[in-house]
Amino acid sequence: MRAPSAGRSAAALAALLCCTLTACGGGSSGGGGGRTAKSPAPSATSASPSAAPSPAAPTLPPGPGGAAPVFSHGKRNGAKQVALTFDADMTADQGPRAARGERFDNPALIATLQRLKVPATVFMTGKWADQYPDEARSIGADPLFEVANHSYSHYAFTTPCYGLPTVKPGTARADVERAFDAFRRAGVQHTVPYFRFPGGCHDDSVLREIAATKVTAVQWDVVSGDAFAKQAAPVVTQVLSEVKPGSVVVMHCTHSAAPMTEEAVRRIVPELRARGYEFVRVSQLIGEGGN
Ligand SMILES: [Zn+2]
Repeated sequence: MRAPSAGRSAAALAALLCCTLTACGGGSSGGGGGRTAKSPAPSATSASPSAAPSPAAPTLPPGPGGAAPVFSHGKRNGAKQVALTFDADMTADQGPRAARGERFDNPALIATLQRLKVPATVFMTGKWADQYPDEARSIGADPLFEVANHSYSHYAFTTPCYGLPTVKPGTARADVERAFDAFRRAGVQHTVPYFRFPGGCHDDSVLREIAATKVTAVQWDVVSGDAFAKQAAPVVTQVLSEVKPGSVVVMHCTHSAAPMTEEAVRRIVPELRARGYEFVRVSQLIGEGGN
């Protein structure tokens, strides 16, 4: 696990605290740590988990012992590409809160990405797809986007993990598959065999446990700090200061826990483009190799 640099430790701490409160994903700087695949070369074969994500999406070869591989960023010496990723968080037991009007979706954010023509990868929980099937289907139908798996329950896959409840022992694989099943039930197209652990929390044991799903685990190297941000400016500053060629930026697609994200994106996108960056989906970074 890489230690966060001193310069961003405060922001990382803030993100950690937010995650403690909200059970959000993308909580810690250095999320690309843990374990990286031994070989950066993408597999020539395609993955096909039970709910049949897009067979065209490149994956990394398995890790030691056949464990799920981990991807955290693309090539540093390649083109100036950056992948914005948005975790559509909703925890399995948050249905009553949604019923009372709390918005775990963020249609304005999706509309902004479409208006600005920003390709992006949405890491969606199965619960979110169940709660917002029309939006889930709409996102998957737009060729700008690919829909990846952020678990069904948004429970932790290892413990401790920012106070998240933990999946029952032996159910990690089923939780991943249940999310793909939810996507299929909602009619989501353009799903990809990528999985982001809730909170990014994982270890070698759980990587082996989910290996049968054939997913590539996707972490990140840039924490946007959008979780519970009160203003867009710090999020903009954080992202602009940390993006490098091949970066994977973690943000959120849930108004409830990340209300400033849409504004932040509006400010980040033109600035990164002015600096020569191209926005790509995670599948493009994986296809070109990384880490
Ligand atoms: Zn999350």
